[in-house]
Amino acid sequence: MDSWDKLNSEIINCTRCPRLVSYIKEVARKKKKAFSKWEYWGKPVPGFGDRKAELFILGLAPAAHGANRTGRMFTGDASGDLLVKVLHKYGFANKPVSVSKDDGLMLKNCYLSASIRCAPPNNRPLASEIRNCSEYLIRELKLIRPKYIVLLGRIAYDTFFKIFESVYGFGIKKPKFEHGLIYKSNNSPYIILTYHPSQRNRRTGRLREEDFEDVFKKVKELMG
Ligand code: SF4
Repeated sequence: MDSWDKLNSEIINCTRCPRLVSYIKEVARKKKKAFSKWEYWGKPVPGFGDRKAELFILGLAPAAHGANRTGRMFTGDASGDLLVKVLHKYGFANKPVSVSKDDGLMLKNCYLSASIRCAPPNNRPLASEIRNCSEYLIRELKLIRPKYIVLLGRIAYDTFFKIFESVYGFGIKKPKFEHGLIYKSNNSPYIILTYHPSQRNRRTGRLREEDFEDVFKKVKELMG
C-alpha cells in the first residue's frame, strides 16, 4: 500500500532523468549571486500542503532558483509570490508570502504539486521527463482524491489529461485550453484552467493579477 512517506522519499531520491538531475545539482553548486549564502536544496521537490485538501493545484516544475533552492514547491520565486498571495486572499493559506521552508506558511484545504519535480533548463522539460515523473503525480492524486483541481498553464493541463484515466479509472474528453474554464465530466473532479502565474506571462500581459485572482474566487464559490 502506498504512503506519503514512501512517495516523498522516492521523489527526493529519484534519478530517473539524468539530464535534470545533473542540471539541478549544477544550479545548486553555481547558485545565483543574490542567493550565494543559501545552501540550495538541489534535489527533486515533493508536493506541499494539506494532505486532505479538496483543492489540488498543479504547476509546471520547481524554479531553478526558487523551489530548487528552498526545497518547497512555489517557494522563493515570482510564481510562488503571486500564487501564495492569492491563496491567502481566499483563505487557503495562513500568510501571504512563501520564502523558505521554515517561514511558518501553512496551506489550508489546498495542496501544491508540479508536473515534474526537478527544475528543467529554460523551464522546458522533455516529453520523456514528464512521462518519467507522471507516476508520482498519479500516486499523489490517488492519495488525496481532491474535488477541485486547478491546472496552471498548458504543461500542467496536458500532463493532467494524459494521466487522468490512470488516476480515476475512466477517461474524459479533454476540453480546449481556455483561461478561467471550469470543466467537469461524469464523476470527474472540477477541473479549472488558468495561465501559469509566471513572471513571463505577467510581463507579457498574458495574465493579469486580477484575472488570476478571479480563478480562485470562482473556486471558492464552487466550494460553497
Ligand atoms: S523529473 Fe521526476 S522522474 Fe525525473 S528525475 Fe526528477 S523526480 Fe525523477
